[in-house]
This record gives sequence, structure tokens and C-alpha cells, in this order.
Amino acid sequence: MDNYQIAENFSLLSKLTDIHAENNFKAKSYAIAAFHIEKLPEQLSEIPKEKIASIKGIGESSAKKIIEILETGSLKVLQELIEKTPIGVIEMLNIKGIGPKKISTIWKEMEIESIGELLYACKENRLKLYKGFGEKTQQSVIDTIEFYLSNQGSNLYPQVEAVEPQITAYLQKLFSPENVYLTGSFKRQLEIIDELEYVVNSSIENIKPKFQTANPPELLEENTDSLLYKLLNGLKLRLYSATESFQKKCFFTAGSPEFINDFIFRFPDIDFSAASIADDSAVFKAAGINYIPNCLRETPGIIERAKAAPLPQLIEPADIKGIIHSHSNWSDGSNTLEEMAKAAKEQGFEYLVISDHSKSAFYANGLTEERIQSQHEQVDALNRKLKDFKIFKSIESDILYDGSLDYSNAVLATFDLVIASVHSILKMTEEKAMQRLITAIENPYTTILGHMTGRLLLSRKGYPVDHKKIIDACAANNVVIELNAHPSRLDIDWRQIDYALEKNVLISIDPDAHFIEGFKDTRYGVLAAQKAMVTREQNLSSMGLVEFESFVVKRKALKGLR
Ligand SMILES: [Zn+2]
Ligand SMILES: [Zn+2]
Repeated sequence: MDNYQIAENFSLLSKLTDIHAENNFKAKSYAIAAFHIEKLPEQLSEIPKEKIASIKGIGESSAKKIIEILETGSLKVLQELIEKTPIGVIEMLNIKGIGPKKISTIWKEMEIESIGELLYACKENRLKLYKGFGEKTQQSVIDTIEFYLSNQGSNLYPQVEAVEPQITAYLQKLFSPENVYLTGSFKRQLEIIDELEYVVNSSIENIKPKFQTANPPELLEENTDSLLYKLLNGLKLRLYSATESFQKKCFFTAGSPEFINDFIFRFPDIDFSAASIADDSAVFKAAGINYIPNCLRETPGIIERAKAAPLPQLIEPADIKGIIHSHSNWSDGSNTLEEMAKAAKEQGFEYLVISDHSKSAFYANGLTEERIQSQHEQVDALNRKLKDFKIFKSIESDILYDGSLDYSNAVLATFDLVIASVHSILKMTEEKAMQRLITAIENPYTTILGHMTGRLLLSRKGYPVDHKKIIDACAANNVVIELNAHPSRLDIDWRQIDYALEKNVLISIDPDAHFIEGFKDTRYGVLAAQKAMVTREQNLSSMGLVEFESFVVKRKALKGLR
């Protein structure tokens, strides 16, 4: 092992000792040792062992550790610390602007164990509530993490959406618009995008030289029918070449491999070179089945459905009529309640359901019983002022460890509706998670089950649940299931929604907005809902004000609550 690697061991040892807040003095001495080891002109492996302790910056204790590393290839104390630390916490050391002390707070006090969770917490404004974390730190952490994650390969849909128009325009300039076709997982509106894919109506030999620019993107793969580039922002760009038939390549790359294989198996004789096959609809026509939109070309099952009957009219972003699930600066949101309501109204929404955090969410400035009362007074005053618009009183109540909600029934009764969500102790067995969720669903005050699994895409898996049993319980108790539209959540997963629809359980596409800008996230919820073939009628937030008002009243009556 060379000096550089040994120094790295000491540097990590110093940081982890700091993170575990074990011994300030030791952490410092390890850092000093690392600094001096890196600068040594001679390799430690070539220095007689008895002389190591007398090297500048290295004492008896560090010398022993160096010898252990040289003899065994590793360091026991370091291995033990690594084992005690979640991988995501160690990964945080890559983020500029937060040192071991801050990471320790993030992990131990905020209970955040991965970079993705940390990013989400920053975006929810949660970091600045802690000592030593200002607005500026929070922003620089956001910037660094976003840059770091973009270099890890996978992207959330909106990150790709933000750059797609420029890339498309660039390719169209190189190859002319009619020869460029956006395809693949982005076209299917998948929540996570590994590659942005296009079909180019040209040969590999012609495509390649076009990228020999002054600052060429890195070529990762060259196949017979495609090139894979890594762009400067870290995004992977795949270009399929279409030499045989442009239309065929477009169709075959747009659907998932599963869908396409089944399609070919069922309809082997479609002649893509025929003049009549000018676009996708012509392909489905030739196959004798109803049109299947791009977002639904995932599984073979859809082909059967499209054969039997036309597919239903999918929900559209414009079908969202109200903002359900929002936070104001009463808890951890950035805007005042009035600002949120006015903005929602201006944007054409008919109502706002204000659902700040409940009292157990102390990290998010959750509302005590007294503050709920004051908020309700403010809601009443605002509702007298706002015309053709209404604020509904709600709360995002923590589902406590035993499954109960965060307030007495008398307090819960003061809300128009209650969103019940799990926010603490996310590490659970399926058995425990199910017990908590089912208890909450059976609570007569629960109207909506918030973000069902607590997952954060690309960073946190979410606790294990049996989604069918949850849906059955929601059906039995008339509870709506949220499709949390935040692009990091999209929870419930669209792949599980078909069972909810089958059981006539309403979905609610909710932005979980922590500021006005967050209303826009409803769109990502709609894109996910489209993949599950959700219609406007199956979504709670598509109800207009009058219908929503009567939904609230009826639901309370049904539960004998009013
Ligand atoms: Zn929540
Ligand atoms: Zn929320």
C-alpha cells in the first residue's frame, strides 16, 4: 500500500471519528497524520518500522496503525467505524460545504441516511431549522448534491425534461427535424430515466463524425445500431441509427422491450416499409387494434385491452381542479397561507387543501392544538375574502408508531379532511408497517392515505408493504389513496394503481407543495397516473369545488362524524 492510500485511510478515520462524535482530539490527530503522510518524500513501506513514530506529525498511536495497515492491508478501527455508518452517510463526505460535524447532525438529529433524502429535506426547507445550517448552506448543499447525482447516471424525469428541448433542437439542427425522433423511456414518461433516447434517420458512420466537435461528448458504447454518449451534464444520450426503416425503428424503440416482443409475436406480418405505415396510428391500424398511447406501451397486457375496446380517455394536467396536500409557513412551507391560496386561485385552481404538519413533526414545526385553532380562524377570514375559491381545513397527521393519529378525536373533528402519513421510524418490517397503516386507514377521521411507502426515488426504498391489502382496507373504509406528485416520491407507484381502480378506490393526485412553485408538480403525478390508465373520474383532485365540497360533507356523514 502506498502513502497516498494510507493517508486516505487516516483521513476517512478522522472524518468518521468526528461523525460519530467519539473523540475530538483523536480525530484531529488522524487528520494531521493524513496530511503529513501524503507529503512524505519516502514510501512508508520502505522506512524501518521502529522509525515511523518519530516522523513529523505521526506519534506512537498513528505509527501502530500505519504498521497494521502495512502488515494486514486494512485498519480494524476504521473497518468497525465503517460498519457502524450507513453507506449514504459516508457518501455525504463527497458533498462540499458540509463537514463531518454537520453530517453528524444530519444523521443523528435529522435521521437522514442518504444523499437523496438530504436533498429532499433541503427542498422541504428542513435543514435551516437546525443550528449551524443557514439558508446559504442549504442552497449550496442542494447545488452540490444535484451535481453529484447527475454524475451517477440515473435521473428523475424532470431533470431530463429540463434539458430535453435543447438536445432535441441540437439534433434537429444536425440531422434536420424530420430525421430525429424522441423515443424510449422518456417518451413513456417513466419516473426514472437512465438514457435519453432518439432515433436518427441515418447510419452510424454518418452520425458519429457529427459529434467530433471541439468539445466532444464521451462515447461510452458503439453498437451496430446505436451509439451511447455521456453528455457534459452526466446525462446519457443514446442515438439509434435507422438504416432499414425509420418508422420501424421509431416504433420498436418507443415501447418497452416486453411490449415490443409481444407485439412482434402477435403481429409478425406488418410491413413497415409500406407507404401506408406513416406513423404509429397506422401501425396499430394495420394490427387491427385500438391506438395505444406511448405512456402505456409497457406491458403486453395492454395489447389485449386495446384489441377488445378503445382505451379510456386518460387524465390530463388540466383536469386537476384543486390543490390537495399543501404546506404553508405555519409548518415547514415557505409561503404564507394567503400567498398559497391566492396563487392557487390565480393559476385557475378552485380550492386549496391546507395540510400542514401535525404536532409530532417537531422538525417541521408541526401544529399544536392551539395553533390549529388560530390557523382555522385565519382560514375562515380568508374564505370570507376569497370569491369562487375555498381553502379547506386539513392536516397531514403523522401516523404514530402504534398507528394512531396525532390528535384527539375532538381535534380531528375540526378538519374538513385528514391526510394520514408516516414520517418517523421508517425502518420497519412489513408486518409493522402494515399494522401502522391499516390502523390509520381504519381510523374514521382518515380521509386520504399520504405517500403510501415513504419512498424517495433514487435514494430511499420505502418501507415494505402489501399494497393489495392496503388497497382492500382503503376500499373497505372509504379512504382515498394519494398519488403524491412530487417527482421524488410518485407514491403510490403507478404500477400498483390498477388494483386500486379495480376496487373502486379513488386516487388523489396531490403536489405536497411546500411553496407556490410546488403546484407544478401535480403534472408529474398526472404523467404517472396516465401510465396507470387513470381517468379524470377516478381522481379526487379533479373534482370541481362544488363536487369536492359535497364529497367532504358526504364522507363525514358516511362515517357518522357530523
Ligand atoms: Zn408527508
Ligand atoms: Zn406533506
